[in-house]
Amino acid sequence: MAPHRQSRQIATGAAEMAVALITGGAGFIGSNLADALSADGRVVHVVDDLSNGDPRRLPPDAELHRVDVRDGEALERVVADAAPRTIFHLAAQADVRRAVEEPTHDAGVNIVGTINVLEAARKVGARVVFASTGGAAYGEYEGLPIPTSEEHAPRPLSQYGMSKVAAEGYCLLYERLYGLETAVLRLANVYGPRQDPHGEAGVVAIFCGCVLAGRAPKVFGDGLQTRDYVYVGDVVRAFLAAESGPVGRTVNIGTGAESSVLDLIDGLGIPTPPEFAPARAGELQRSALDASLARSLYDWEPLMSLRAGLQATLASARSAAEHPDRRAPGAFDAALAPPAGRA
Ligand code: NAD
Repeated sequence: MAPHRQSRQIATGAAEMAVALITGGAGFIGSNLADALSADGRVVHVVDDLSNGDPRRLPPDAELHRVDVRDGEALERVVADAAPRTIFHLAAQADVRRAVEEPTHDAGVNIVGTINVLEAARKVGARVVFASTGGAAYGEYEGLPIPTSEEHAPRPLSQYGMSKVAAEGYCLLYERLYGLETAVLRLANVYGPRQDPHGEAGVVAIFCGCVLAGRAPKVFGDGLQTRDYVYVGDVVRAFLAAESGPVGRTVNIGTGAESSVLDLIDGLGIPTPPEFAPARAGELQRSALDASLARSLYDWEPLMSLRAGLQATLASARSAAEHPDRRAPGAFDAALAPPAGRA
C-alpha cells in the first residue's frame, strides 16, 4: 500500500489544495498531521522552535520556520508570507511537571503563544484549529462523570491544564470579537508512532523504550489508574475534520474507554514484570472523554484498537532505534497501517 493512502481518503472539499500551517509541526502529533496534509498534496508550513521537535520527523516537502510562537512579530511575518487557509496550533509547553515548576514559562508559551497565533490568523483570515487537552482540563472532581462530555466544567489541577483552558477561551473570544473561525479539540491521551521514548514523554512511548532496552517498566502507584488512549492517526483525522467542520465549538477527541497502565503493559506484551514505585502526588486516578459530539459534528470516531495501535507504536519505535539516521515511520506509513477495513 502506498504510504499515506489512508490519509488521502479523508481530506475534504475546499480545504483540499489550500495552504496549511502547523505550529508545533516538528512534534509528535504535528509531524503525523504534516504527513497527512502533505500526502493530500497540500502546501505545508511548519512553525516550530525545535525545543521538543525534530525536523527529521517532517515530510521532505514541508517548509520549516524555526520560530518561537512567543515572538509575535516573527510569527506574523511567517503567517503573512504563507497565507494559510488553516493554522493548526499545536505548539505548546506540554510537560505537566515543568508547568508546575515554571508556571510563567508555561503561560508564556501556551497563553501568549496562542494569542500571537490568533492575532496572526486574523490578519490573513485563517481558521485556527487549536490542540487543547481533555484530562488536564477537566481535572477530577466529585460528580464529574467518566467518560466526560464537554458540558461539564473544566476544573484543571495543574498549571498546564489551566493555561490550555485559558488559551481555549482566547480562541472563542477572537471568534466573538473578530469573527475569526476557530475550533478547539480537547485531546485525550494521544499515543502512537514518533512519540519520543526518552525523557518525559507519554507512558506508551516510555514503555516502548523499556521493551527495546529489555528493561522492566516502572509503574507509579498500583497501575490501575486509567486514561483514554487515542491513536495519533485517529487524532489527525479529527484535526482534518475540524478544518472543514462547524466553527466555534469545543470538541472532545477520545475513545470513551478507560485503560489502565497495566492494560498497556499487557497490550505491548512486555514480558518483564513491572517495578512499582510510590504514586505521584496530584496524578488523576481516572480519565476518559465522551466523544459523542465529535461523532455528530464531524462524523468522527476512533478506528484503531488499543492493541493494534500499541503494536504499531512499538514497530515505529523499533524502526527508529534500528535506523536513527532515517525518518521514523509515522501513523500513515504502510508498515504501520491498521488492519484492513479500519481507518
Ligand atoms: P510535542 O512536544 O511532541 O510537540 C509540541 C511541539 O511544539 C514540539 O515540536 C516543540 O518543539 C514545539 N514548541 C514548543 N514550544 C514552542 C514554542 N514556544 N514555539 C514554537 N514551537 C514550540 O507534543 P505533542 O504530544 O505532539 O502535542 C501537541 C499538542 O497537543 C500540544 O499542544 C499538546 O498540549 C496537545 N496535547 C497533546 C496530548 C498528548 O497526549 N500528546 C494530549 C492533549 C493535548
